Amino acid sequence: MASEAVYGPVIGGVESVEPHRETAELLDPATNRPLARVALGSAEDAARAMEVAQAAFETSPWSAGDGAQRAKVLLRLAQLLEQQQEEFAVLESRNMGKTLRESRIDVGYVVRTLEYVSGLADKLEGTTIPVPGSRFNYTVREPLGVTVHIAPWNYPLLLAMRSVAPALAAGNAAVLKPASLTPLTAVRFARLAKTAGLPDGILNVVTGPGGRLGEALVRDKRCRSVTFTGSSEVGRRISVLAAERLVPATLELGGKSPIVVLADADLDRAARGVGFGIFGNAGQMCWAGSRLIVHESVRLPLLDKLRGLAEALVLGPGTDDGVEMGPLVSREQESRVLDYVGVAREDGGTIVTGGAKASGPKLADGNFVRPTVVADLPPASRAAREEIFGPVLSVFGFRELDEAVRLANETPYGLFAGLWTRDLAAAHTLARRLEAGTVVVNEPPLTFPQSPFAGFKDSGLGSEQGVAGVASYTRVKNVLLNVGLPKKKA
Ligand code: NDP
Repeated sequence: MASEAVYGPVIGGVESVEPHRETAELLDPATNRPLARVALGSAEDAARAMEVAQAAFETSPWSAGDGAQRAKVLLRLAQLLEQQQEEFAVLESRNMGKTLRESRIDVGYVVRTLEYVSGLADKLEGTTIPVPGSRFNYTVREPLGVTVHIAPWNYPLLLAMRSVAPALAAGNAAVLKPASLTPLTAVRFARLAKTAGLPDGILNVVTGPGGRLGEALVRDKRCRSVTFTGSSEVGRRISVLAAERLVPATLELGGKSPIVVLADADLDRAARGVGFGIFGNAGQMCWAGSRLIVHESVRLPLLDKLRGLAEALVLGPGTDDGVEMGPLVSREQESRVLDYVGVAREDGGTIVTGGAKASGPKLADGNFVRPTVVADLPPASRAAREEIFGPVLSVFGFRELDEAVRLANETPYGLFAGLWTRDLAAAHTLARRLEAGTVVVNEPPLTFPQSPFAGFKDSGLGSEQGVAGVASYTRVKNVLLNVGLPKKKA
C-alpha cells in the first residue's frame, strides 16, 4: 500500500510530523478513499504555537519594523502562490471536493488578497489632533500582537487567508487553525510563507479538533484577537470566550440568503446567476442564495430554466475535466443535506428536481447529492429557515414588493441578498430595505478583497476585507506631549 502523505502543525517554521504523533485519516470526498493523514495537535501544541508567535512578535523585525518590508514579503508570497496556483488548486479540490475551476478561483482570490493587503502595509497612518495649549497630540496604529484565526472547510485556504493576510500586513503574528476536514492547503501555505521570507513564528498553523485546539487558542492569555468563520453555534461560543478575555472577536457565520427576482429581470441571466449561487461549491457557501423569492408572473418560466440548468450540471470528482459540481465535503454533510430534503418533503415541499443522492459509475462512492429545487415549501419549515449548506434551493412566489421584502428579511440571518431587475429605482430601494451585509444586483454572489464583507443579525459580528479589514488588526495609541516651555516665574 502506498504510504499517505502526512501533514502536521507548522510552529515556528517547523512542521511536526513525528511518527509518535496521533494522526487522523482524511478521505477524498469524491471516493471516500484515503487521501492523506494529518497530525492531531494537542492543547500543548496550541500553547506552544501561541508562545512561539508571541516571541516572534516581540523579537522579529516583522512587527516593529518597516511596513514596506512586510509589503515586499507579502508580495513575494503572492507571486509564489500564483506560480503554484495549479498545485494548490489540485490539493484543495482533492481535499474539499470542489471543482478545479472553483479551486483555481479561490487560490487566485488569495493571491489578490495578498497583493491588496501588501499595498496597505506601509499606509497604516495615525492622525494629529488639535488640543489646547502648547501640546502635541498624535495617534499611531500598532499591531495587536498574536491574532488567532479559526477557519472552516468550505473555502479552506481562501477564508483562512482572508483574515490572516490583513493581520500579517498590520504586523501581527498569526496562529491559524484550519478545519479538521481540510487542513492541507493551510499547511502547504505555511511552508510557502517560509520560502517567501516570512520570519519563523509569524505564521503558525495548528491542526486538530476545534473543541480542543480552537478553545485553547482563544483562552490563551497571549491571544489579542480572534477571527472565526463557521457555524453560528460555535461562533457564539467563541464570542463568549473572547468576551471573558476582553479580546475582540470577528465572526463570519451562516446565512440563508434571499435572491429576489422581479418581473422585469433578464430571466436567462437570472437563472444562471441563481444556479451558480446555490449549486456552486455544491451549495456549501455561507452566502449561498438558498431562498429564491420570485415574482409570480415569472415564477414558472424561471423554475423551468432552473430545472433544466440543474439537470444539465455535470457531477463528478472535482479534479476531473468538465465537472461542474463536485461532492459534498463528507458523508456527514451528505446525510445532513439529505435529512433537510426529507424535512422539506414532510412539510409539503414539492421536489421540482433532484432531492436524492446522485448515482452513476463515478459517483456511487462519493458524497454526491443531486442539485435540488424545492417549491411550495411553507416559509416556516425548518428547511426554509435553517442553513442547509448543500445544493438545495427553496422557491417562494410574491406579488407585491413589500411581500418580497418581508419574505427576504424573515430570517435570523443577514449575510447576503441578491436582486435581479432592470429597474434602477427598484434596485436602489430594495438594496436599502434588504437586511444583509452585502447586496448584489444582477450578478451571482460576488465580492472583492477591497470590498467590506460583514454579516448582519445572526450572520456575524465585525467586518472583514477592505482598508478597514487591515486597520481592524491594529490598535490606536494616543500620544500627548507637552512641548511648551516652563512658565516664567513672576
Ligand atoms: P464549525 O463551526 O463547527 O467549524 C468551523 C471551525 O471552528 C473549524 O475549524 C472547527 O474545527 C472549529 N471549531 C469547532 N468547534 C470549536 C470550538 N468549540 N472552539 C473553537 N473552534 C471550534 O462548522 P462545521 O465545520 O462543523 O460545519 C457545521 C455547519 O456550520 C455547516 O453545515 C454550516 O451550516 C456552517 N458553516 C458555515 C460556514 C461559513 O462559511 N459561514 C463554514 C463552515 C460551516 P474542527 O473542524 O476541528 O471541528
